[in-house]
Amino acid sequence: MQKKLKNFFSLYVHVPFCAKKCLFCSFAVSVGQGHRADEYIDALKKEILAYGGTSIASVYLGGGTPSFLSLEQMARLVDGLRVNFDFVDGGEWTLEANPEGLDPAKAAGFKSLGFNRISLGVQSFNDAYLKFLGRAHGRAVAVDAFQILRGAGFDNINVDLMYGFPGQTRQELEADLRAVAQLESEHVSIYTLTIEPRSRFYATQMKLDDDEKLADDYVRVTQFLEQAGLKQYEVSNFARAGFESRHNLVYWEGGDYIGVGMGAHSLHKARRSWNTENLSEYLSKIRDSGQAEEDGEDLSTQKRLLEGLVFGLRTNRGVSIPLLEKQFKLNLPGQHKILIDEFVQGGFLVIQDGYVRTTLNGRLVLDELSKRLI
Ligand code: SF4
Repeated sequence: MQKKLKNFFSLYVHVPFCAKKCLFCSFAVSVGQGHRADEYIDALKKEILAYGGTSIASVYLGGGTPSFLSLEQMARLVDGLRVNFDFVDGGEWTLEANPEGLDPAKAAGFKSLGFNRISLGVQSFNDAYLKFLGRAHGRAVAVDAFQILRGAGFDNINVDLMYGFPGQTRQELEADLRAVAQLESEHVSIYTLTIEPRSRFYATQMKLDDDEKLADDYVRVTQFLEQAGLKQYEVSNFARAGFESRHNLVYWEGGDYIGVGMGAHSLHKARRSWNTENLSEYLSKIRDSGQAEEDGEDLSTQKRLLEGLVFGLRTNRGVSIPLLEKQFKLNLPGQHKILIDEFVQGGFLVIQDGYVRTTLNGRLVLDELSKRLI
C-alpha cells in the first residue's frame, strides 16, 4: 500500500542498538543485538517504502545509539532513505551519537553522508555521575568526541546533559555547566533525572532530591546557559541564535511526522500510531507485511487543539490562542479559557503580544498545568 503523504515535514528513524543499557534509560533499546543491525536496516528500508516520494524537511536518527552502526551500515541506511524520500534542499539532518566509539574517520564519514547536526549524549562531565548513570564513557572521552566532531566539520552540535542526580551539589552542577559552556556547542538539551518505570533505577526505589532543590537547580541552569549565550527556546532546550532544532520544533508546534523503526511513533492526519518495541517482533512484522504498527489512536480535533496548546506552552514563543483556533478550525472550550485566566492570575502564565507564555514559575510546574489543560 502506497501512503504518499503531503505536508510531512519530519522523519524520525529509530536505531535501537546500544552497547549497554544505562541505568536511567526507558527508551526502546536493544542491547547485545548488534549482530542483527544489517537485518534491521533491511527492515527499515522495507518499512519506508510505504511513504515513497514524501517530501521531508528534517530527518532525525535517534535511538538507541545510531552512531553504534558502522559507517558501511549507516551509508546503506542513508542510501535507502535518499532513494525513497524527497529531501528538501538545506534540510536538517540530525544524528544522535554517543561519545564512545567516535573516531575521526567515523565522524568524517557521517558528515560526508549528509548529516549536518549531531546530538551528542554526554549527560555529565563528572566521571562519578557518569558511572552512577551506567554510561559507557568518561569525561575525557566526551570532550574528545566533541572535538573530533568539530574537526570533522560539524558546526551544529547539541550536547545532551542531565542534572538532579541525588545529592548533586551546586558546585558539581556548575562545574558541568562550565564544562559545556567551554565546548561552545550551538545547542544544549538539559533534563532533570527522572526515575521511569522501565528503567533499571526504578527497581532500586531510588529517591530523588526534593522539588525545591530541583527547582533551584533549574533556575541556576537557565540563568547560566542564557549568560553563556545559549538562549532558552523550550523548557529543556537552549540554542545560539539560528540553531534551534527544526526537527523538534515540528513536534512542539503540533506538526505531522513519520516515525520508522522499532517503537517509533508517527502522527499524520489526526492519527497517532506507534510500532512494536520488541526487536524480533518488529523484524518479523516487517518481513511479513512491511509494517510494524502495534497500535494507534485517532485524535479528535479538540484533543489536537489541546495538545497544540500544551506543546506550545513548552516553547518560549508560547501560543497564540486565535492562531491555534484558526489552525484547528475550533474554538478553545470556555473552561480552558477560564483555566488559562486562573494560571495567569496565579503567576504561572503571562499574555504578551497576543501569546500565552509560561513564566519561570509556570515552567517549574508545567507538567501539572498540562495535566489540567488536557
Ligand atoms: S540512554 Fe541512550 S545510550 Fe543509554 S541505553 Fe538508553 S538509548 Fe542507549
